[in-house]
This record gives sequence, structure tokens and C-alpha cells, in this order.
Amino acid sequence: MSNWAHKHIIDLSSFSLEDYKEVLELAHRFKRLPQTGSRKLPALQGRLIATLFFEPSTRTRSSFELAAKKLSADVQSFTPSSSALIKGETPLDTVLTYVAMGAEVLVIRHRDTGVPAQLAKYLDQKNKKVSVLNGGDGLHSHPSQALLDLFTLTNYFDNSQGSPESLLGKTITIVGDILHSRVARSNLWSLTGCGANVILCGPQSLLPEDFSRFAEEPPSEQKEDPIKKRGKITICRSLKEALNNTDALITLRLQKERMSENLISNLNLYHEKYGITHQKLQWCEKKIPVLHPGPVNRGIEISSELLEDNSICLVAQQVSNGIPIRMALLYLLAAVNN
Ligand code: ASP
Repeated sequence: MSNWAHKHIIDLSSFSLEDYKEVLELAHRFKRLPQTGSRKLPALQGRLIATLFFEPSTRTRSSFELAAKKLSADVQSFTPSSSALIKGETPLDTVLTYVAMGAEVLVIRHRDTGVPAQLAKYLDQKNKKVSVLNGGDGLHSHPSQALLDLFTLTNYFDNSQGSPESLLGKTITIVGDILHSRVARSNLWSLTGCGANVILCGPQSLLPEDFSRFAEEPPSEQKEDPIKKRGKITICRSLKEALNNTDALITLRLQKERMSENLISNLNLYHEKYGITHQKLQWCEKKIPVLHPGPVNRGIEISSELLEDNSICLVAQQVSNGIPIRMALLYLLAAVNN
């Protein structure tokens, strides 16, 4: 029986180990569907899911739409440049329009931190039977990306089960532009929540010292951390040292569009120090997998050769795992509104 208690998924700070297990188990079932002969399930037939991306997206939006279609839902999507937003309509009125059409799950992305949470709160105050799934807000959170990363890593460490426990005691290094990354912030909740220790690695300008205390206090609206014992977070400025002691690596895009000032003066120098290449991976004690949430700046945070080496780089697996993970999330949220 499901113990799922979340009406909305805004971030992962409120996820328990049971929540991670439930999402991963469901994603495993959905991933195995083609082997059972069924490519599509009738589970959400006649239910409306709206993808409202006020900020551009390639992977996340298509992946949610595909996931919804595989569950036989109706999908409405919205493109800011060809919508009433350019006539001055607010995101709230856009959302209310889709709710009035009968949408039961809204996947919302916005460039400003907090917008999906504010919209969810407003809809709750109005007693609307609709769930908000954060598709990425500002620097804050990107839960579905962190869950598909978790799924990819647990599958790597535990081929047969892919359970969250397979991360217990593992060390995962996250390298690069952590300051501007909502993916890294969500990864920190999920990885430490499943007992992995996380090494954050990057230059001071992209990785302030206080990130090491990231998971110490849950957000103010939450009473307590549902995870009894989280993995540790440490900061290591030396990539060589970090790699020497890691079981997997997540490298991040330099998010130039979010930098208010020029934080990286020389991209070649950045690549030399923090760019991931086959050569630098020789610093690792063993063969490790490399993940990247995409989109990628080739030759900056990762070399083109490594990006295309599927024996090490799991980017393609991350993209395909995104579909069963998002099927699981849509399925769980739609059930809340039944
Ligand atoms: N696609 C991810 C995001 O939306 C990562 C990135 O843009 O670098 O946050």
C-alpha cells in the first residue's frame, strides 16, 4: 500500500527514505514495461496534465510530456512566447486558466525561486484539487532531475534492485557551478537523504564555504528533517583530491545566464582546473560513472570525448531514466487528487 503523502512536489527537503523508495520502485516498474509487452498504460486516461514552462527547457518538458502520454493522460503545454503572457497576463492567471480547464497536475518551471511554491499555496487556499510539480525554479530546486540522477546512480550501484540503500556510505562528488545550480541543491537533499556522503568541488566564486552546512536545517515551514541520519557534505577545492576518494561524479554546467557578474574570468583555465576529461579520471582509484544534467557546454565542464563515451558518461541513461521517474511522479500526484 502506498504511504505517499505529498500533494505537491516543490523540493526534496521533506522526502523520507520511504518516499525515495516508493518513487524508485514505481520507476523500476515503469521502466520494465516494454519488456512486458506494454508500451503504454491506461492509468491516467482522461486526466489532464499541463506543462507550464515560463523558462526554456528541452529535456525536462519533453520528458514530462512523454511520461504523461505513456500513462495515457491528456497533455496541454504552454509556450510563453506564443501565449497571453506577452499581452501582460500573470503566471497566476495562466495557471488558473489551466486549472479551469480541468488540469490536475501542473508541472511549473520559472526563472524565479519560489514561484511554484507560491502558486501551490494559493491553489490550496482556494481548495483546488490540483498538484504542483516543480519543474525547476530559479536557484532553488529541480526535484525530478535529482530523482532521475538518484535512479541512474542506484541502478549503476545495484543493477538488480536499484534501491536507495545502495547509496549508503558511497561518496558522490559534485563539481562546478554549484552556486547557480538548483540541480545541485536538490541532489544534496536526495543523496544525503539516502546516506551518501557528498563532496562539493569548485572554485570559491562558484562554491561558497557555507554550502557545507546546506542540509543542517530544514526549511522554516518544515518542523523537522524526515531523514534521521543524512550523509555528510564536505567541500574540497582540489579536483584531484576529490576524485581520489569518490564513487561517482556529477559535473554541472557553468550557468552564465544566471551570473550577475563575471565570476569566471578565463574558461580555458576553468576547464584546466575543473573540466572533466578521461585524463583527470585517472586520478580516481577505480572506474567511476560521470553524470551531467544537461545542457552541456562541451569542452568547458566536460570534454567532448568523455561526453560521448557511454561506458563512463551516463548522460544518455539520465535522459532515458527521466521518463519512468516522471511517470512515477505524475502517477503519485494524480492519485492524491483522485
Ligand atoms: N537543466 C538543468 C536545469 O534546468 C541544468 C542546467 O540548466 O544547467 O537546472
